[in-house]
Amino acid sequence: MVNILTIDLEEWYHPEYVKREALSYKKERIQYSLKTTLDLLNRHNLKATFFIVGELAEKNPEIIKNIRENDHEIAFHGYNHKPLWNLNADILRTEIRNFNSLIGEKCAGFRAPSFSLSNKTKWALKVLENCGCQYDSSLFPAKTPLYGVWNAPTTPYRPSHENITEEDEKTKLWEFPLLVYKLKGIKVPVAGGFYMRFFSVSLIARAIKKLNQQGFPAVIFFHNWELDPDTPRLKLGLYKYFVTYHKLRETSKKLERLLSKFRFTSIKEYMESYIA
Ligand SMILES: [Zn+2]
Repeated sequence: MVNILTIDLEEWYHPEYVKREALSYKKERIQYSLKTTLDLLNRHNLKATFFIVGELAEKNPEIIKNIRENDHEIAFHGYNHKPLWNLNADILRTEIRNFNSLIGEKCAGFRAPSFSLSNKTKWALKVLENCGCQYDSSLFPAKTPLYGVWNAPTTPYRPSHENITEEDEKTKLWEFPLLVYKLKGIKVPVAGGFYMRFFSVSLIARAIKKLNQQGFPAVIFFHNWELDPDTPRLKLGLYKYFVTYHKLRETSKKLERLLSKFRFTSIKEYMESYIA
């Protein structure tokens, strides 16, 4: 059973809890963290999907070149990392067009910054489909303080454009929800980021195994800046500091264990093998 590995490629100052505090201090760390990320994937000899923030690729064209040379998939993570709740259909359409001309091809996949897809922002599905995207991976089927749709499906499906918690096989766009662990009616988010740093490898492994036993792939993710031990630490409130920096130095150890234990590939390769 093959699973799906995704990377949200962004600078350490892009996340929602950091961006305001980082307005006056934007030291670039992308060269270092991208190299560390590519080295990790090469060590495990696997292909992954990179959801890339457009403005980063515009400023550093070698990012796209490097990822392509290593044979990974290029997908879109918003032009300036603005969540869908701060955009509208016209802006998203323009962002996708600009990203496509930057990379010189039609990108197949999208992940909304801050997993901001919900029934309030479901208009994005139509935009993605009209722009020629084949899939989205923005849905966190659990409730968290910042995002999540607790009653959404937990395995790949084609969401109805009227109600994203329902499947509609007439639509073209696939959704790849992020991994959650179901425990006595509660869905615990474990796919990546803070949740991967917070929970143990054995709990995440159990969640992956459970899904695989039912014949479905687990979708996990990490941020490149989580592999950088020198990610700048800003003064944030207690809660935001905890969510952003908790056990940051353990991410790479945890990933090493998960990537050795399970098989992973990109969404593109998964779709070509199992959906097309
Ligand atoms: Zn992001």
